[in-house]
Amino acid sequence: MGIIVQKYGGSSVATAEHIRAVAERVKRVRESGHDLVVTVSAMGKQTDRLLRLAGEVSRDPSPREIDQLLSTGELQSVALLAMALHDRGVAATSLTGPQAGMKTTGRYGSGVISGIQPGRLRGLLDEGQVAIVAGFQGVNTLGDIMTLGRGGSDTTAVALAAALGAERCEIFTDVDGIYTADPRIVPEARRIPVILPSEMAEMAWRGAKVMHPRAVELGALYGVEIHVKSSFEEGPGTIIMGGNGLEHLETRETVAGIVHDLDVSRITLTGIKTGPGTMSRVFSPLAEAGISVDVIVESAPKEGTSDVAFTVRRGDFREALRLAGEVADSLDGQVEGEEDLGKVSVVGTGMLNRPGYAARMFATLGEAGIPIRLVSTSEIQVTCVLPAGRVEEAVRVLHRDFELEERDV
Ligand code: ADP
Ligand code: ASP
Ligand code: MG
Repeated sequence: MGIIVQKYGGSSVATAEHIRAVAERVKRVRESGHDLVVTVSAMGKQTDRLLRLAGEVSRDPSPREIDQLLSTGELQSVALLAMALHDRGVAATSLTGPQAGMKTTGRYGSGVISGIQPGRLRGLLDEGQVAIVAGFQGVNTLGDIMTLGRGGSDTTAVALAAALGAERCEIFTDVDGIYTADPRIVPEARRIPVILPSEMAEMAWRGAKVMHPRAVELGALYGVEIHVKSSFEEGPGTIIMGGNGLEHLETRETVAGIVHDLDVSRITLTGIKTGPGTMSRVFSPLAEAGISVDVIVESAPKEGTSDVAFTVRRGDFREALRLAGEVADSLDGQVEGEEDLGKVSVVGTGMLNRPGYAARMFATLGEAGIPIRLVSTSEIQVTCVLPAGRVEEAVRVLHRDFELEERDV
């Protein structure tokens, strides 16, 4: 029988009781004859607690030390799960990311996996042991621990599944699959039984935090079949896999889901002198500071000046405003910003080449009196930036108007 990689998120290992329940589940799968690699996240909100602690001892903790600290959350979980398995007579060994051969590069706090040396893992599996790997971490060429960005344990799991040629990767969380919208906001949301990796990746990038976007992309790249399930109840969950079934061809559902993200701020430079190279002058300092920019809108130039608006994460707002202010000064313009925003996206590969989705979205938001600050579209999504306080309402009205609650599952 093949290898299965399982990942249990923070809420699934929040307490000793939860860890015992995970151990029971792992034991059952192991007894069915599968080789098992299990990745776990930090217990409950432990990562948030550690981050808060860092903020209490230092005004500006160094990214390297933050990673050193955060990585300990996952270490607690793996050791505890190994103990719970031993108690049940299951041979298991816990490993840190580095011990599991997880190599990373890039910036502290948002490390990317550069390779996996799975020798030690394979050795454990050959001995009939369950290998338990700390999620969300790896080691760089300096020998330092790096973390993969918030929610990154999903990426650890899928990367391990790819490296080991696993039969599938199972992501256990606190919802029983991917829904047409966050079920905590839209109780009528429907579970999606099977979703294309392209749609899931777009939903994840746009804010559906149920899966880390890089995990979905890795899965698509290496052909890993990902199952998203509840760790609290049995059920089919959602399967993320490439679709080559012909039964729906072009009549497939056009919209996969409504996604939201509350971690959005806007910065606008107004009246800046414009010409070739202006955009580079605005965005290069942000890139150098490691600030990711999302929606970008530039107005048509009028009398040699234009306005440029863009969004960043709230954590980057102050620094981005400062950098944009310097650029605006040098281009005889001004800068202003709005910190408390969110965005809502309608996502679906079926929207490709079918006009009218953006118009329908604007009409729905307009009827509800919800103001739109910025818009971005691509062939598989339309995104509107809105005041944060109106985001949940926007998700609900769009879910209703796009008739997603009537979706047959
Ligand atoms: P874990 O700790 O297991 O990694 P997360 O909190 O990262 O879990 O992700 C699960 C949460 O994602 C759910 O509790 C749910 O509120 C949220 N979520 C957002 N969008 C969706 C969606 N479209 N389908 C399912 N869950 C979603
Ligand atoms: N513990 C990390 C976080 O809270 C990683 C994860 O849960 O996937 O972001
Ligand atoms: Mg998560």
